[in-house]
Amino acid sequence: DKTLHIIGGGLAGSEAAWQAANLGIKVVIHEMRPKVETFAHKTGHLAEMVCSNSFRSDDSEQNAVGLLHWEMRQAGGLIMEMGDRHRLPAGGALAVDRDAFAQGVTQRLTAHPNVSVEYGEITELPTDGFWIIATGPLTSGTLAEAIRRETGEDALAFFDAIAPIVYAESINMDVAWRQSRYDKGETEDERTAYLNCPMTKDQYEAFIDALLAADKTEFKEGETAGYFDGCLPIEVMAERGRETLRFGPMKPIGLTNPHNPETKAYAVVQLRRDNALGTLYNIVGFQTKMKYGAQTEVFRTIPGLEEASFARLGGIHRNTFLNSPRFLDAEMRLKSRPNIRFAGQITGVEGYVESAAMGLLAGRMAAAESNGRRLPSVPDTTAIGALVTHITGGADAKTFQPMNVNFGLFPPVDAKGGRRGRRDRYKAYTDRAKSDWQGWLESVDTPEIAAQ
Ligand code: FAD
Repeated sequence: DKTLHIIGGGLAGSEAAWQAANLGIKVVIHEMRPKVETFAHKTGHLAEMVCSNSFRSDDSEQNAVGLLHWEMRQAGGLIMEMGDRHRLPAGGALAVDRDAFAQGVTQRLTAHPNVSVEYGEITELPTDGFWIIATGPLTSGTLAEAIRRETGEDALAFFDAIAPIVYAESINMDVAWRQSRYDKGETEDERTAYLNCPMTKDQYEAFIDALLAADKTEFKEGETAGYFDGCLPIEVMAERGRETLRFGPMKPIGLTNPHNPETKAYAVVQLRRDNALGTLYNIVGFQTKMKYGAQTEVFRTIPGLEEASFARLGGIHRNTFLNSPRFLDAEMRLKSRPNIRFAGQITGVEGYVESAAMGLLAGRMAAAESNGRRLPSVPDTTAIGALVTHITGGADAKTFQPMNVNFGLFPPVDAKGGRRGRRDRYKAYTDRAKSDWQGWLESVDTPEIAAQ
């Protein structure tokens, strides 16, 4: 039986299904929601974005995640197609309307003649057939247990935190204003992605005190060690230094308050539009492990948010991931059971885009294998190749931690001496990647495979 079974219809599983189905393979997606829920997912849709609504930078010349966007678009990726279709204005970032996006992915997959979806939790490792496990950071406990039994080693776990979402109508626009950072004027445009709340020095100092004093969810010993920089809870940032937030998510630069143009704000809290309707805004960079009561109290001290009502408060979450360098081969197959591939966040990549990218590759590899072929390995000079190379062997198994895509994973462009400026270097990385990815796609997109 050539059918490909995919456990988990998230960002990775959906992309894997799309790729394999388009290569002529029958695919069954096994998705436990809405029958079995996770604490972060809110719907029964495939490819639900659980926290931020951003795919990050869309700049494919200077940014590694933007390059990943580009590579996935070239490969006919469904996640990028739907991301582009449901794009929201957000400067250089690709922010999307999460509901419309997830509905779009679900609709395209369920309408595909080669795809079917079975709703229900898978609790055991499959013994035969072609499988991809793409159950993500919130893999259900029973399946996680089954994986641990197989690998003989505890899957690692660590905690991230999610940012709160505020109803737009509850924000006081006599205090807050609309403006994207460094935007020159036309700040009244309804479509501008960001709202800004200004703080004076006294307000900022009081806010830091409140953060430090607030009730927080306690971690067990050792749990905090896995915090991923870039998703640090604000109270942890505040603990690192009273100025840390003012130089991080609350930096006041590039913004002018039209209510008070003469006085420069000491700090600014930014909110980013979270849906197409413009009814919801998330507080940028404000992931937190404060208890709910404390969150409401502390966030309402922010000028403009005194009456805020919250569509969702911040929270902490588990992240289950495999020690991939030890357990997966170069084609993302479990060494002890090569009929099973892993894809997505559970392989130790970090982020929506990275997860979808690993799904894209796993789907193509599984389709080829099911057709009795093997794909040539992806050059590690491409973003997708750099990521898969990192998780399946490039990284040290002993210190393995989830990884965002970044140019540090690529073979250096200046290996043979000569140094150049950062912009030139990044451009050289992305030029090389684009050419190599194009070459790889041409080598595998043979009519032979496509026709089956
Ligand atoms: P998911 O998208 O989670 O998909 C996995 C799917 O598998 C889910 O639909 C789940 O229901 C299903 N499933 C699980 N177990 C089983 C089972 N036993 N049987 C059947 N189905 C099962 N990344 C970002 O880029 N930006 C963020 O802001 C961000 N915030 C995050 C916040 C939280 C709370 C979490 C948990 C993660 C966050 N991530 C974020 C990280 C990560 O990029 C996303 O979780 C991303 O969705 C991972 O894609 P995935 O396909 O691997 O997993």
